Amino acid sequence: ALLITRKCINCDMCEPECPNQAISMGDEIYQIDANRCTECVGHYETPTCQQVCPIDNTIITDPQHIENQEQLWDKFVVLHHAD
Ligand code: SF4
Ligand code: SF4
Repeated sequence: ALLITRKCINCDMCEPECPNQAISMGDEIYQIDANRCTECVGHYETPTCQQVCPIDNTIITDPQHIENQEQLWDKFVVLHHAD
């Protein structure tokens, strides 16, 4: 999963772009629900939130949630089966 760091300026660009509804407003800045973030696996070649974010290096790989491609695919399948 990816992580939004404190560099976030709350521009609201990323939230509507997430195909998994993983992004929401937190107490101070936007946040990513690690249980819903597939790093865009199953939808896009690259993480779309990183593509639209205007501030470099604001959205990074979450060091607490390092996942391989297989794990991300499994998450995609579970999420979209449940929908
Ligand atoms: Fe959503 Fe993709 Fe960003 Fe994860 S990487 S929060 S799935 S847009
Ligand atoms: Fe924050 Fe970047 Fe999302 Fe804008 S696009 S709300 S700066 S993480």
